Amino acid sequence: MTQPVIGIFGGTFNPVHIGHVRAAIEVAEALELAGVEFVPAACPPHKNGEGLLDFALRLDLCRAAVAGLAGFSVNPLEADRPGPSYTCDTLAALAAARPGERFCFIMGMGDLLGLGCWKNGFGLGRLADLAVHSRQGQGIETFCAFLTDNGPAMGATPTPDPAVWTLPDGHILHFVAVARLDISASDIRRRWRAGNRLNGLVSESVLAKLLTHTDALQAGWDRPLSA
Ligand code: ATP
Repeated sequence: MTQPVIGIFGGTFNPVHIGHVRAAIEVAEALELAGVEFVPAACPPHKNGEGLLDFALRLDLCRAAVAGLAGFSVNPLEADRPGPSYTCDTLAALAAARPGERFCFIMGMGDLLGLGCWKNGFGLGRLADLAVHSRQGQGIETFCAFLTDNGPAMGATPTPDPAVWTLPDGHILHFVAVARLDISASDIRRRWRAGNRLNGLVSESVLAKLLTHTDALQAGWDRPLSA
């Protein structure tokens, strides 16, 4: 019997939106993951901090976004560490806390392309399986071109399937094509500042929660939302 694999979906989630949720669902289905844990970054090292909502609120929004999705949950473990929330530290902490479990870190294509700037980014494949999903029209060609250049630094070796590469210590790197939803949290914040509606970009449960925190949004995103 193959070992169940838990997806770990890291992000700033400022706020979580339907692009995040659909990507996570489609990766979970494609790789037959046993579950997916959304892991909001307490202190995102790669964002400029523009309008960052409190961790507690981003966590709460993530909980609303995955409520009712069997196997999906939200893990607040990055709040336990001071300083920038580096993914390599998160994966190491998960491995230490839950020995015997197998994890697959999920990231969009943009994150793969920027991995060289992450702390120990090319070493993530020693800590967990990796799943990279398409984003903004960048698919398997971008994935393979990146690995042709950077696969050796990551210890990634091709297999006959271009969407599957082997990684050190028995880990696997997957590419998963997901439905293209050109939604971003920064666009959502921009729409908020313009006083536009967010319906359809975030789930109704997330929107309802946002509307009960207009003071926090005003402080973080600059402008009150007109109902
Ligand atoms: P921002 O616009 O503030 O940079 P974002 O919308 O890209 O934020 P993040 O929290 O930075 O959201 O993203 C977390 C993860 O979700 C990343 O791996 C990112 O590539 C992925 N992701 C974000 N938006 C989408 C989307 N619309 N479709 C697929 N993946 C997405």
